[in-house]
This record gives sequence, structure tokens and C-alpha cells, in this order.
Amino acid sequence: MKKDGVKLFVDGKRLDGRELDELRPIKMEVGVLKRADGSAYLEWGENKIIAACYGPREVHPRHMEEADKAIVRVRYNMAPFSVPDRKRPGPDRRSHEISKVTKEALESVVLTHLYPKTVVDVFIEVLQANAGTRCAGITAAALAMADAGIPMRDLISSCAAGKIEGKVAVDMMGAEDNFGDADLPLAISPQKKEVTLLQMDGNFTRKEFEEAFNMAMKGCLDVYEIQKQALLKKYEV
Ligand code: ADP
Repeated sequence: MKKDGVKLFVDGKRLDGRELDELRPIKMEVGVLKRADGSAYLEWGENKIIAACYGPREVHPRHMEEADKAIVRVRYNMAPFSVPDRKRPGPDRRSHEISKVTKEALESVVLTHLYPKTVVDVFIEVLQANAGTRCAGITAAALAMADAGIPMRDLISSCAAGKIEGKVAVDMMGAEDNFGDADLPLAISPQKKEVTLLQMDGNFTRKEFEEAFNMAMKGCLDVYEIQKQALLKKYEV
């Protein structure tokens, strides 16, 4: 929420010099971990994230397995050193929530019926955080899954939009997230533009919501292009 005295625009530009519809710089690389079946490293502004994927493999504990399909398990974790004040290690309410919504965002594109009684395990490790880590984590996780060769009918791409000092803007960074008015993370399967995650924190008018949704959608499609490049790069000779 907005706190008195914090200015989020300087000379009409955002604090990091961006326009309202401009994403932070994004870099992605796949196949960064030897021991995972698939992996990805992603830098998104000051966010730094590693994702690893294993599977389809045997389910432990056994009682979690499903007779007719694979299950998808996601663990989102923030390193203690990922934020300015040390984060208490281990799971908390926030990481449980993000793991749950991430699993739901990713699972919808996996052809789970092909691998009954198995699990696709996805680990998202946030090494450095500066707002938007759920979107960055989902984006990295989808890449790691594709890198692992998990059969999927599409990738998943994610990006948020928000409201800062009453103006709708894409991809909020730390200060904007802390002192802004609203945040709208979105994840889509880009080919059909189906929404697989939509959350909202703060308040938008209906018109602002539509504007933010469209901005986040455009952000997701830009992210999708970078994901495709990262995957193609692995197979360049
Ligand atoms: P997201 O990272 O998806 O935007 P939140 O809105 O919950 O998720 O968090 C916003 C940002 O707040 C995070 O990206 C991170 O920079 C910061 N943050 C989250 N948890 C903590 C924490 N325990 N200590 C310090 N900063 C945190």
C-alpha cells in the first residue's frame, strides 16, 4: 500500500527509468544443472531464480500416487539471503501459497494421463528476490519442465501488472510492490492464451483491471518469446 512521502515516479519515469509498459531486463538459460532431468536459470530485474525438474518418476510416499495420471509437485523456496533482511529458512504460509498456485498454473498443460502412477517434481529456488518472484518462478519452472522433456501441450509464461500512484504499470519491482496500490500476477498458456493463474492484491477499478490484465497478458507473450529463444539456444550447434 502507498506510504506517505515515497515517490515512485521521477520526471515521469519509474524509479529504474522504465516506462509504464516496459518489462525489467530478462535473461534465461536452460540445462544449467547436471543432476536434474531439466533445469533453468532466470534473471528478471534483480530476481535470480533456479528451477529444477525431475520425472516422471516413482511417487514417494506411495499413497500420493494416482492410478490414472501423473501428479505434479512444486516446491517454491526463498533462500535466507534472497532478501535484504535475512528470511527465516524453511517453508512458511507464503511459500506454501506460491507452491500451490504454481503447481496449479503448470499442471494444466502437462499430459499427465501419459504417465500414470508417477510424479513430476519441480523445485524453484529464489536466490535473490525483488518482487514478482512467483511469475519469475513459474516462468523458470515451465522452462525446466520443457528441458526435462515432460510432454506438455504448451509452455506456461507469466508476468504481473500493477498500479503505482494510481497508474497501471507492468512488472512492478520491489519499491513499487511495497508502496504501490495493487498487483495482478498472471500466467497463461501462450498459444491459446488460456489463463492458468490470476491473483490480485489491492484494488483496481473495473477499467484499471482490464488495463492491467491486458498489460500483464502482453508481458506474458513477451516472456514467451524469451523462453522460446532460451530453449532453442540449447540445441544450437
Ligand atoms: P512476489 O515475489 O510474487 O511478488 P509477494 O508479493 O508475496 O510475491 O512478495 C513481494 C516481494 O516481497 C518478494 O519478491 C520479495 O522481494 C519480498 N519478500 C517476500 N517475502 C519476504 C521476506 N520474508 N522478507 C523480506 N522480503 C520479502
